Amino acid sequence: MKFCGYLIRYDELALKGKNRPFFEKRLISNIKEKLKEFSITTEYLWGRILVYCEKSPEILDRLRKVFGISSLSPVVEVSSELAVIQEQALLLLMSTLAKEENREENQNLTFRVSANRVDKKFPLTSQAVNIAVANFLLPHYPFLKVNLNHPALELGIEIREKRTFLFLEKERGLGGLPVGTGAKVLALLSGGIDSPVAAWMMMKRGCSVEFIHFYSYPYTAEQSKEKVLDLVRHLSQYQNKSFLHVVPFGKIQESIQKQCHERYRTLLYRRLMQRIATELAYRRRARALVTGESIGQVASQTVENISAVETATDVCIFRPLIGFNKQETIQIAQKIGTYEISIRPFEDCCTLFQSSCPATRARLLDLLQEEEKVPYKEFVQGAVDSIETLSI
Ligand code: ATP
Ligand code: MG
Repeated sequence: MKFCGYLIRYDELALKGKNRPFFEKRLISNIKEKLKEFSITTEYLWGRILVYCEKSPEILDRLRKVFGISSLSPVVEVSSELAVIQEQALLLLMSTLAKEENREENQNLTFRVSANRVDKKFPLTSQAVNIAVANFLLPHYPFLKVNLNHPALELGIEIREKRTFLFLEKERGLGGLPVGTGAKVLALLSGGIDSPVAAWMMMKRGCSVEFIHFYSYPYTAEQSKEKVLDLVRHLSQYQNKSFLHVVPFGKIQESIQKQCHERYRTLLYRRLMQRIATELAYRRRARALVTGESIGQVASQTVENISAVETATDVCIFRPLIGFNKQETIQIAQKIGTYEISIRPFEDCCTLFQSSCPATRARLLDLLQEEEKVPYKEFVQGAVDSIETLSI
């Protein structure tokens, strides 16, 4: 009995009809890309992907971050003959339960066999295999108690033509769609908690994400850029390659602060950010912008303000967190590992020159009048020309 690799399942892709091969190919190429430093091979089985490799926590950790995988199992491959399946299932069970027979918590260990006969030519039905294998195993482990509903230990048997896969572990993957099956989008990434989660959620829907960050050095610390770079490095684990576009924004903010009404400052910053991001999106062929906004979270994120700001762009804006409260976003940030980076204490440029009395329901007309007080077209051109692009 020898571990041969990881059996990968995907569910959402199976619904894709004629486009299914496109999604499957992408999933396989993403898996290969993520594991390119390891010696692996992949095999496409109808409805499954098998990654042949050594058993390795590092490989498993990388597979856990590939969108499109609904679940995965470390498997043993055996030939599709009942006697072999029984023998090898026993060895697998022994390797898991080795020397544990006398342990107290094993005394009433619940167990079931779950066979799935993909090859309908196999002479026994799935249910008959369940019974035959369980009857073979149980005399060796009398302390196992069969429980079909909530077993602590489940032996999976997937019978295919010529070969069969056995497994005792099955863990959930991230689900979603393989990155690269959707369009490219440009995420506005601050150093905060929300925008990295928003970017991650777009990756989950198959989009490849590039990042744009506005920073106000020398008004904010140089480390704030380092923090954003760390966020991008971290998020890159969920897609193949990332680009971070860094835009110097301090001079623009200073000018808005001097020329425009204090009430509209943050909203004018936002409009300028969107204008610059839009220019960059055209250049990079990104089809949409992404922000971490959610309704009512801060003064700038009322429905009125969000809609007055977004007239600055004609590119579609996605806001995957729009209906979340902060705690829900924090939970995802913790799960995906961005939270620890986001809470590092560096100022974002938007807190710079912040007004003490921001407009909560700005009228578009007022905002447009204020915007005219600065040469915003020149600002956009200047900013786009001085973008620094880092590839990660
Ligand atoms: P976050 O936690 O993402 O910063 P937030 O709740 O603090 O969100 P704001 O700071 O008002 O909200 O920002 C709203 C959105 O605007 C952010 O989610 C992000 O998409 C974008 N944004 C804000 N500041 C920047 C920045 N310096 N660079 C790029 N995008 C930014
Ligand atoms: Mg913020």
